[in-house]
Amino acid sequence: MSDMPREKLALQENVDNLSAQMKEIAAAIFAEPELGYQEFRSSARLADFLEANGFTVERGLLGMPTAFHAAAGSGQAPHIAFLAEYDALPVLGHACGHNMFGVAAAAAGIALSRSLPAGTVHVFGTPAEEGNVRDAGGKVPMAEAGLFDSMDAVISTHAEGRTILRQQLISRANLEMDFHGRAAHAAGAPEQGINAQDAAALAIMGINSLRQHMTSDVRIHGLLTDTGTAINTIPEFARLRYGVRARRPETLDRAIERVVNCARCCAQALGCEFSWRHSAHPYYTMRHNMPLLRAFAGNLDLLGESYIEEVPSSYSTDMGNVSFRAPSIHPYISIGGAHLVGHTPAFAEASNSECGFRGMLLAARAMAMTGYDVLSDAELRQAVRAAFASGDPD
Ligand SMILES: [Zn+2]
Repeated sequence: MSDMPREKLALQENVDNLSAQMKEIAAAIFAEPELGYQEFRSSARLADFLEANGFTVERGLLGMPTAFHAAAGSGQAPHIAFLAEYDALPVLGHACGHNMFGVAAAAAGIALSRSLPAGTVHVFGTPAEEGNVRDAGGKVPMAEAGLFDSMDAVISTHAEGRTILRQQLISRANLEMDFHGRAAHAAGAPEQGINAQDAAALAIMGINSLRQHMTSDVRIHGLLTDTGTAINTIPEFARLRYGVRARRPETLDRAIERVVNCARCCAQALGCEFSWRHSAHPYYTMRHNMPLLRAFAGNLDLLGESYIEEVPSSYSTDMGNVSFRAPSIHPYISIGGAHLVGHTPAFAEASNSECGFRGMLLAARAMAMTGYDVLSDAELRQAVRAAFASGDPD
C-alpha cells in the first residue's frame, strides 16, 4: 500500500467508509435469494444504496423491472460502467456470490464518484445472469439496445475460488424445439395419428449423428421434456430442450442452424408441425480488453493481491455479449480457497463469510481504482479503444 498514489489511497478510504454498509447489504441479499427477473428486493437495495449516495437512478429498463441504471458525475465523456448482478439459484440460493459482487460494483461506483477525476461513472443493475429462468440474460437486451456503446470501459467482477484475470469462456444457446402431431387411439385408430414423440426421438438420433461432424469445441446436450401421458394414445406433442455451446459466436450460430434443421426435417418426415425458440438469450464468449485488464492487474498489485493470469473454462455469461459492444473485462476475485466451485453449497457458504466479504471489498477497491485510471488517463483510454477496434482476444 505504501507505493500507492495519493488519489488511489483516497479511493481506499472511500471504500473503507462504505464497508460496514456493504457487508450489511450483501448479507441482506443473501438472506432473501431471488431468482432472475424476480430480484425486486435485491435490485432495490442496490438502487437505494446508490441513490442515497448521490447517484441519479432510473429503475426498470427495456421492460425489465429489476434492471436499473445509476449515474454520477458530469454526464459527459469519459464514461466508465460497473455492472452489478444480484440473481440467485433455485434451491442453492446465492451460490454464485452475486449477493456480494453486485454490492462491490455499486460501492466501486460510489467510491469513485467521491473522488471523480473527470467524466461520468455508471452502475448498471443487470438481472437474470443465471441461465435457469426463461429469457435469462438481462445484459443481452441491454447490450443490443446500445446501452454500453458510449462507454470507454465496462467492468464486472465475479466471485471465484481463486483470483483470476481472465477465463476463456464459451458461447451458449438454449433451444426449445416443439413437435406437433395428432392424437389418436394407439390400438383403435393408429392410422389417424401423427406421433410427435417419434419425431422428437428421430431428432435426438439425428442430432447424435451430427455431433461427429462438429468442431471439438462444440457441445450439444439435451432432454425430451414433454411427451404423451397415456401409452394407448398417440402423443400429439413433444418438446426437446437442448443446450448448444461453442467457442465462438459464429460457430455457435452454425451449430444451432444444423441442429434446428435436423429437428425440422425429422418433424417433416413424420408429418409433424415444427417450431423452435431460444428459451434464454444466447450468451457469447468473452472478449477480454487487454490494456484494461493490465490496468486492473496493476491495481491488484498495488493492493497486494496475487492472481492467475488465465484459466480455460467452459462457463458462459451474458457479460460476453457486453464485450462485443464496448471494451470490457470480467476478472474473478477469490472468496475463499482454490477448492471452491460455483453453484455448490460450499460456494454459498463462502458467499456470506468474512473471507467472502474480504473478496467483495477487494473487488470494489480494484474496480474503483481501474475506473479512476480510465477516467484520468487519456492514453489508457486510447489504448483500450485501439485494442477493442482491432479485435480483443477471447
Ligand atoms: Zn455467477
